[in-house]
Amino acid sequence: MPELPEVEHVKRGIQPFVQGQTIESVVFSDKVKEGKAANKETIIKGLALDTFQHLTEKFVIKDIERRSKYIVFYLQRDDEERILISHLGMAGGFFVVDSVEDISVANYRKHWHVIFKLNNGKLLVYSDIRRFGEIRNVSSFEAYPSFLEIAPEPFTEAAMPHYLSWFGKKLYQNKPIKQMILDHRVISGCGNIYACEALFRAGIHPARLSKDLNHQEREMLFYYVREVLEAGIKYGGTSISDYLHADGSKGSMQLHLNVYKQKVCKVCGNDIETQVIATRNSHFCTTCQK
Ligand SMILES: [Zn+2]
Repeated sequence: MPELPEVEHVKRGIQPFVQGQTIESVVFSDKVKEGKAANKETIIKGLALDTFQHLTEKFVIKDIERRSKYIVFYLQRDDEERILISHLGMAGGFFVVDSVEDISVANYRKHWHVIFKLNNGKLLVYSDIRRFGEIRNVSSFEAYPSFLEIAPEPFTEAAMPHYLSWFGKKLYQNKPIKQMILDHRVISGCGNIYACEALFRAGIHPARLSKDLNHQEREMLFYYVREVLEAGIKYGGTSISDYLHADGSKGSMQLHLNVYKQKVCKVCGNDIETQVIATRNSHFCTTCQK
C-alpha cells in the first residue's frame, strides 16, 4: 500500500504537468461504470458519474498537495471551487501521459479507471489494479469529515504534541503500540512498512501496550517515524509490490529496510520474526526490540 513517501512522489511526479491546467473532460472505464450502476461506488465515491463530470470538467487545477496518504486537487471554475480528494488504496497510481498506451507498466495500462483530459493535451490517468482507491469531489473538507480527523503532517511542529496526547486517551492504552501509530488520526501517513521500521529503530517490540512505553520511548518512537518517512521520501519510496513513480520508475527505500519482509536482522544476525498484530503483518527482531 502506498504510504506517505510513495504518495509524496506520485504528487511530485504529476504536479508540474497538471497544475494550472484546465480539465477538459473526464472519462471512466467500463469497470467504474458497471460498479456505479451496481451501487458499488467503484473508485468514484459519493456522486453519480455524470454529476462528478459536471463538477470537474472545465475546472482549473489551481493547486495540488499531499495530505497524509491523500492527494488533493484544488479546482476552480469562475468563482466556484471544488476539491478532489484521492486515495491510492492498495495499488493505485496517477500517471501523466500523452496516451494510455504510453503507461510503461502493463498492469497499470490495462487497469486505467479514470482519465482527466487536460488542456495541455496531456492525460492525467488514475490506474488501480485492485480498485480499492477512491476519488471524491467535494465542495469543502467539511463534506468529508474523516479527512478532518487526520493528524497534523508529521514534519510539522504540531505533530509530536498531537501524537503524545493520544497516550492520554483510553482508546489505545491497552492496545499494541504498532496499532496506535498506524491510525492516521494519531500520526498521519505512517503505514505498515514505515511503522515496522520505526519500531525497529526505536528498539520497541510492536506488540508492547501503548501505556507501557515510558515518556522517552514515546518521544523517541515519534522521532524515528519521522526519520523513516524522511528516508522514504529521500529514496523515492519503497518499491516492493506494485508501487512505481508517475513515470514508471522505482523507488529504492526497499534497499534500506531493516525488518519489513527481511529474513535476518542486520544488527544482531538473528532471524526476523513475523506476527500478525491488529490484522497487519509485523516484522521485527526479538533481540533488538523489547
Ligand atoms: Zn536484531
